[in-house]
Amino acid sequence: MQVFGLLGNPVEHSLSPPMHEAAYDALGMDARYVTFEPAPEDLAAAVEGARALGVAGLNVTIPFKRDVLELVDPDPLAERIGAVNAIDLPEMRGYNTDAVGAVRALREHGVDCSGTAVVVGAGGAGRAVAFGLADEGMAVRVANRTAERAEELSADVGKAATAHPLDALPDLLADADVLVNCTSVGMEEDRSPVPAGALHPDLAVLDAVYTPPETRLLRDAADAGADTVDGAWMLLYQGVAAFERWTGREAPVGAMNDALRSGL
Ligand code: NAP
Repeated sequence: MQVFGLLGNPVEHSLSPPMHEAAYDALGMDARYVTFEPAPEDLAAAVEGARALGVAGLNVTIPFKRDVLELVDPDPLAERIGAVNAIDLPEMRGYNTDAVGAVRALREHGVDCSGTAVVVGAGGAGRAVAFGLADEGMAVRVANRTAERAEELSADVGKAATAHPLDALPDLLADADVLVNCTSVGMEEDRSPVPAGALHPDLAVLDAVYTPPETRLLRDAADAGADTVDGAWMLLYQGVAAFERWTGREAPVGAMNDALRSGL
């Protein structure tokens, strides 16, 4: 039996186990996906222990995505983002599938990832999405509440990115093609980080927030005639990327999506 897992704290309510196990069931694989909740000081021992026990792949979530970078051999994108959310074992190679998850979520909804993107938020998700979209060739405008974090992210991304305050959003969005919310605003609360009047029909809007899947931002975007993509698609495609990498098989995306949606 193959074993895959998730390292985080807390991981009790993670949707990764049902999503990955639905894929194993759909393909008749003898595999399990389990969660591990090490104390922060035991992170290195946990990763090494998983390797020693023959775990074939690990996802990594809050609060370990940055710290685990030091424990593995990160690929160039994970290194630039500054976070690892998946590890190949026993090789100890680390990578970041949040970036590819966001890009694929947009592409699978027919969004052309060219032109200009506005990324709201400069935390873990914001960094992954900004690098992912810049690597697709998009000009990226990063808007964040804390100016220094937006500036740091745009400097790290390089000449494709610029940094802005949140109150610049109406101007930033006027000629933009894609908007991605990477703040936690809208999670468990009916609030949007973007003024509804700044949204328009030429925009595609991805909200990284997936609890709830239908956020205030996505409702406002639909009302404005914009295309919308909910955060569960990003979560799905980061899982699909890890599954395909670890198993070398094409992921049963429909089964994984059904499991994820019923978990939500
Ligand atoms: P994080 O590293 O803690 O960053 C939080 C971001 O939200 C920061 O940019 C922060 O701004 C901003 N923020 C928080 N409260 C705010 C407020 N009241 N007004 C304006 N900005 C505010 O968190 P994260 O890991 O990036 O996660 C952000 C969201 O993305 C969460 O909802 C998470 O669940 C979601 N996410 C989804 C996926 C997916 O696959 N769909 C993957 C990763 C994350 P400051 O810098 O000013 O504090």
